[in-house]
Amino acid sequence: MLLYNSLTRKKDEFRTAEPGRVKMYTCGPTVYHYAHIGNLRTYIMEDVLDRYLRFSGYDVLRIMNITDVGHLTSDGDTGDDKMLKGAKREHKTVMEIAQFYTDAFFSDCEKLHIRRPEVVQPATGCIDDFIRVISALIEKGYAYLAGGNVYFDTSKLEKYYVFQDFREEDLEVGVREGVEADENKRNKADFVLWFTKSKFEDQELKWESPWGLGYPGWHIECSCISMKYAGETLDLHCGGIDNAFPHHTNEIAQSEAYLGHPWCPHWFHVLHLNDESGKMSKSKGEFLTVSLLEQKGYSPMVYRFFCLQSHYRKLLVFNWENLDNAAQAYQKLVQRIAALLGTDAAPDGEKKEALLGAFRAAMDNDLNTAQAITVLYDVLKADADAATKLAVIAETDKVLALGLIEAAQAAAEAPAEEIPAEVLALVEQRKEARKAKDFAKADALREEIAALGWEIRETRQGTEITKK
Ligand code: AMP
Ligand code: ZN
Repeated sequence: MLLYNSLTRKKDEFRTAEPGRVKMYTCGPTVYHYAHIGNLRTYIMEDVLDRYLRFSGYDVLRIMNITDVGHLTSDGDTGDDKMLKGAKREHKTVMEIAQFYTDAFFSDCEKLHIRRPEVVQPATGCIDDFIRVISALIEKGYAYLAGGNVYFDTSKLEKYYVFQDFREEDLEVGVREGVEADENKRNKADFVLWFTKSKFEDQELKWESPWGLGYPGWHIECSCISMKYAGETLDLHCGGIDNAFPHHTNEIAQSEAYLGHPWCPHWFHVLHLNDESGKMSKSKGEFLTVSLLEQKGYSPMVYRFFCLQSHYRKLLVFNWENLDNAAQAYQKLVQRIAALLGTDAAPDGEKKEALLGAFRAAMDNDLNTAQAITVLYDVLKADADAATKLAVIAETDKVLALGLIEAAQAAAEAPAEEIPAEVLALVEQRKEARKAKDFAKADALREEIAALGWEIRETRQGTEITKK
């Protein structure tokens, strides 16, 4: 399988240290708020990769951390503590916030058919491991104490900037908002491994350490949690593109300094999902969540389909029109599959393999999910019987996890219900609003219709109304 590697900046043949076994690490969520659908794009694409590796015969050990301490809003060592901010906002303790949003994250994942990793480890459960590794880094001369904090000394590395996708000016103090000078740092790229002195007097969670009462920096958790469960090397490390710098760069720096050898040869980064205003952010008041999509009448599977329609290395822009288009395409696909149901025939093994070959070719080419979906349409058009087509779709859905067969079965079983006059009236009003380009009103009407249990989609043939 060819898979783009951010370290080599090209598509590499994916290899593992041990034949047939993948040790895969995923940076988990910072659990101070709900995940936005941008975060979930990353987890969906990582899930497809995970599932495809299993589909290809690998035994996958997947590890994910939960960041419940130490992540500051700037991603560097400045800004507010994200967890503390969440706790203050909701008048809860940090641990209550962490538990609530961890559960919310996995509930979103379940709705989106994102597999739960074999290992899910909150950072606060591994403080002893962090202290052990930080102590070793100090002993080896890679870390120093200054002003009460422990810093990693990036000047001790032959090569610190391992990824291309980062801009040196991001580090310039004062150039980027929120970056403040830390007089304790020997080099501007140095980063905190352990805080005892920070601006957060009211930091709730603190632990005893050889350097005083304090708490870990953000980056150390992923190195330590990975080593705890996967040992001294990984095969594959994943995250959103914003993690490449500084987070992953720092993970590599401290892991390799500690281990004394290369740590992970393959880095998989998912490009961002932005809204039309630019960056998607959790701090902008109301933000896009799975629940919000559901409230507006979209099934989480439609969002997964929307993500899979584009390549993970392309920036994806979210707007409601694009999501409507995905909803239509998904529904059509389901209806065409529903029409194949009800056959008892055995699939034609040879044809099935040939059709699956096209699917594999798409996925083997840097996880081309958009092409894989095109293959689904080709399967539906193929010169093969219904049983064979269904068998192929069922196989591909082990990877795409779009719930296609289940949705088709539900569609085939659901009796057609008459559309109430009330709904039809609202649909008419919405058409008018759209014509007048009053999209806010059109959105509100869509919600009213959804509240009545109906879903509407614009198709080239006109408006389609279906029971939710
Ligand atoms: P966080 O909860 O902020 O630690 O982020 C969780 C994951 O979402 C990380 O892998 C981030 O790189 C990723 N991420 C953050 N913002 C976006 C976005 N707009 N689109 C896609 N992935 C994102
Ligand atoms: Zn990480």
